[in-house]
Amino acid sequence: MRRHSLPAIILLSTLATSATPDGNQPLAGYSAEGTRVERDWEGKFRSLPSADNQRDYMKRLSARPHHVGSPYDKDNAEWLLAKMKEWGLDAHIENFDVLFPTPKERVVELVEPTKFKASLEEPPIAVDPTSNQQTEQIPTYNAYSADGDVTAPLVYVNYGVPDDYEKLERLGISVKGAIVIARYGGSWRGIKPKVAAEHGAVGCIIYSDPRDDGYFEDDVFPQGPMRNKNGVQRGSVMDMPIHPGDPLTPGIGAVPGAKRLDLKDAKTLTKIPVLPISYGDAQPLLSAMKGPMAPEAWRGSLPLPYHIGPGPAKVHVAVTSGWDTKRLYDVIVKIPGSTYPDEWIVRGNHHDGWVNGAGDPIAGAVAELEEARGFAELLKQGWKPKRTIIYGLWDGEEPGLLGSTEWAETHADELREHDAVYINTDSNGRGFLEAGGSHTLEKFINGVAKDIQDPEKKISIWQRARANHIVESKSDDDRKEIRQREDLRIPALGSGSDYTVFIDHLGIASLSLGYGGEDHGGIYHSIYDDFYWYTHFSDTDFSYGCALSQTVGTAVMRLADADLLPYDFTALADTIHRYSDELQRLLKKEQDRITEQNKELQDGDLVANADPWKPYVLPAVEEVPPHLNFAPLLNASDALTRSAEHYRKALDTVTKSGGLTLGEASIQSLNTKLIQSERRLTSTDGLPGRPWYKHLIYAPGFYTGYDVKTIPGVREAIEQKKWKEADQQIVIVSTVLQDEATLINSAATELEKHQ
Ligand SMILES: [Zn+2]
Repeated sequence: MRRHSLPAIILLSTLATSATPDGNQPLAGYSAEGTRVERDWEGKFRSLPSADNQRDYMKRLSARPHHVGSPYDKDNAEWLLAKMKEWGLDAHIENFDVLFPTPKERVVELVEPTKFKASLEEPPIAVDPTSNQQTEQIPTYNAYSADGDVTAPLVYVNYGVPDDYEKLERLGISVKGAIVIARYGGSWRGIKPKVAAEHGAVGCIIYSDPRDDGYFEDDVFPQGPMRNKNGVQRGSVMDMPIHPGDPLTPGIGAVPGAKRLDLKDAKTLTKIPVLPISYGDAQPLLSAMKGPMAPEAWRGSLPLPYHIGPGPAKVHVAVTSGWDTKRLYDVIVKIPGSTYPDEWIVRGNHHDGWVNGAGDPIAGAVAELEEARGFAELLKQGWKPKRTIIYGLWDGEEPGLLGSTEWAETHADELREHDAVYINTDSNGRGFLEAGGSHTLEKFINGVAKDIQDPEKKISIWQRARANHIVESKSDDDRKEIRQREDLRIPALGSGSDYTVFIDHLGIASLSLGYGGEDHGGIYHSIYDDFYWYTHFSDTDFSYGCALSQTVGTAVMRLADADLLPYDFTALADTIHRYSDELQRLLKKEQDRITEQNKELQDGDLVANADPWKPYVLPAVEEVPPHLNFAPLLNASDALTRSAEHYRKALDTVTKSGGLTLGEASIQSLNTKLIQSERRLTSTDGLPGRPWYKHLIYAPGFYTGYDVKTIPGVREAIEQKKWKEADQQIVIVSTVLQDEATLINSAATELEKHQ
């Protein structure tokens, strides 16, 4: 490509950033002059977010319950729209019509050996002014539970994850025909009824144990931040590891006239009825149980012996929902790019809550609002972002990531072509920066974090996060690595917020950002997550709300204004190496475990060891897992490492020789290539059994829900003992990684041509 002369000569610096913040160091993807201008605008921006504004917005947005379909949900969307317009931004509302069941009948009662009826109510608290809005509060329930009316013996299943059922089997306890009671925690809630139904249970009760979410942690509300005996965690039990979004329109936008499935064909509803209860309501049920004592790790903090059952407690559970279609109101703001309008940076946070939802989601939404106001201010002062910036305030996140999923599915083709990055926030609190996401953005977000000041400690939030990682490290090796490494590692994303459709379905490089770790919270998805709670127990002065605005706003600006998109591939390659090591260790561990178990069986050790007074069922002899062929993955991982080094070196060479001159056109072609780098990590077929999930490196676990499974096709095949599928998936993911390496090499070669 030819060299351009003025006006479009851009001097690019290396993408490498130093370990310590340095105002004079050129920013990744910027020329020295571009860096100076950018830092100037970013500095102006960071002075704008106001804590008082955030407090006012939160007071307004959380004043009344605002779940999907409620009057105040729509009212909030219209208020948000009006705010954006008042600031001079181009904003509109996009509507989608989605299946959203609301509770009609809810019963949990003990019928034997004694009688007790669960209240299923969260009473108002005098000091908490919004806790008495009963007429507008959505009752406590789990959205997308199947309708049903069952009476059966009760079995306590701990967290209700697959491992717990393994233990029950050893104890000779079956949940077939039983109602299970599981405590919240250990997995995403939707996994509990899913696994219970797979094991033959006919109903599921989920309760909040004070051990995990109550007085074991801290004082309870309103004396303290934690869940009191009446607090209930609402929440969706939609089978989101299959696909999130409207159950009736998988893969397409739920716009008017969209082809919808019949309710009976929806794949993401539970098979059995499920209801959440408080520990006040759970205590009489658990007290009425007998049978073996629960293993020590299963016991919670209620003052009772934790028995497993089954029975003699027998319970009646009934759930009926109104299966109605409700309208979503996504607020969308667009700031057109001046140089590369067809390259997009998208940022979002949801605005719907389960009830008043001050922490979740308004704490994140008010930070996003202050960013938008800040951008509006900068635009008036002459700031011209090169790329198009899109701000979304999503509706319907709580029931199943509805607003973001339906919007992104509707605009899927445009997003695949144009969207370089998606940045998500959700609730926010006090403490440390928590950043997760695509490893192509690891270096980038470390760079941003080095430039943001912690509001309490007055050091960079990066230094604080690093100190936290060091102090909380589990091993000397980890500590050593953190001290030596230029950047902090970021965890991969699973699910649980609105980034899911962007990264997992569309393959858009994504980040999830927020502050937390210093404030306790036990009001999640209850009526007590409100302005009173937030301003007494969380980020009470909104200083971390402002830090969040500064962090995300800076990231968005830096991405939107860069000449060259600041992806880096060395962290990706490094991470893929770690994942393939993990997979090999996982297989080895499983081989060793089964070999050992078979030996203990054959030598009679398990029989000899068992207490004859207690029930014990021997495991069956299992086939030892075969060796898998990891060679294609190791080769692809090496190829990726070489290509990442190639790209890094191309930029370094250019910098050392005084900078790279590239015209806008040739930068655009390079950026177009780079934008596709995350897309290359997807496959059109998606993951085995769940084709909506297209990303082959990151996905929420089929049996964990929120927690990520990395290289999920291979990992879950190993976990589920599908050896042939594991070998096939190794080949599939290796091909994708080889393609990624080819793309990165070609980007590096393009850079070298212009030295
Ligand atoms: Zn949320």
